[in-house]
Amino acid sequence: MTLLGGLKIGLEPDESLSKHTSWRIGGNAVFMAWPKNIDELAGILDYARDQHLPICVIGRGSNMLFSDEGFFGIVINMLHFEKEYLKVDGNCVEVSAGMPNHILVQKCAELDLGGLEFLSSIPGSVGGACVQNAGFSRLKGQKNEMKHFVEEVMVLTRDGQVKKLKHEEILWNYRDTSLRQFIVLKAKLKFERKNKAEVQKEVYENYRYRSEIQDLQHPSAGSVFKNPAGAGMSSGQLIDKAGLKGFKIGDAQISERHANFFINTGHATCENMLALIQHAKGKVKEQFGVMLEEEIRYVAG
Ligand SMILES: Cc1cc2nc3c(=O)[nH]c(=O)nc-3n(C[C@H](O)[C@H](O)[C@H](O)COP(=O)(O)OP(=O)(O)OC[C@H]3O[C@@H](n4cnc5c(N)ncnc54)[C@H](O)[C@@H]3O)c2cc1C
Repeated sequence: MTLLGGLKIGLEPDESLSKHTSWRIGGNAVFMAWPKNIDELAGILDYARDQHLPICVIGRGSNMLFSDEGFFGIVINMLHFEKEYLKVDGNCVEVSAGMPNHILVQKCAELDLGGLEFLSSIPGSVGGACVQNAGFSRLKGQKNEMKHFVEEVMVLTRDGQVKKLKHEEILWNYRDTSLRQFIVLKAKLKFERKNKAEVQKEVYENYRYRSEIQDLQHPSAGSVFKNPAGAGMSSGQLIDKAGLKGFKIGDAQISERHANFFINTGHATCENMLALIQHAKGKVKEQFGVMLEEEIRYVAG
């Protein structure tokens, strides 16, 4: 850790990004910081501004692809921010952005609060889930996307102001939101009264279902592409029908189990993964006339 120019928080120099992403890919960040409170976070933003260094915010890195060259700036890791903060207000629960999804669901189950069981099987933090409008439905008719559960989000603007945004002040899209322009600090989520055993049963059913259809044995970032609207098939089905299951570039491979999961079978580089993504897009466009759009977040050096 290095203390720099008036900063009250140490910055880790040359931190490997592959250690902080589920894909296990990426070069080094010039600095990584783990702010614990708003003062530390504001100090990092000031320092970055003074030094003309770009910043990149991460949660658990479950949807991110960093360049092999790394990141020429400060990666702000939110996992220690007001760690463990959880405040219950009736059926609403306010939590810090870095809270792991499965721990939130588990802690709330202990309080007989449920409704967000779907979140437990989505790797990542509450901040990342809000920014990505993460979602997963096992059964037809379920409306399991973050947008249905977020009451309010506390953010820090890039110029250091704390703001509270109500649900209706946020733009919610498919795996994207207007929260991306801010640093998410906390989120207030709407739960419902539900018996702990019922919550745990639903969490278990989701895990069982997902481990049957997804490739959870290898490092991945979940689904690489969004499902295209109006194509009549999911991205996974299109890639599968294009005959690409198992196709490999270097150690980056399209999973045999789930064609929208691209896995790292050993030492895949970002270059390998980007080439595989381009290849799949090209083949699907050529065969079905559908242009796939990435769900994962690529960060260039
Ligand atoms: C095996 C597997 C299965 C998956 N299944 C699903 C699924 O079913 N549904 C689904 O929606 N996703 C799924 N994903 C993708 C991923 O889990 C989600 O996108 C998750 O919400 C990302 O959270 P994170 O904390 O890891 O965010 P990160 O990957 O660290 O970041 C994602 C994006 O959010 C931004 N970000 C993160 N935290 C903050 C913050 N505090 N403030 C501002 N910006 C922030 C980052 O800059 C980045 O743009 C899966 C991933 C894996 C590995």
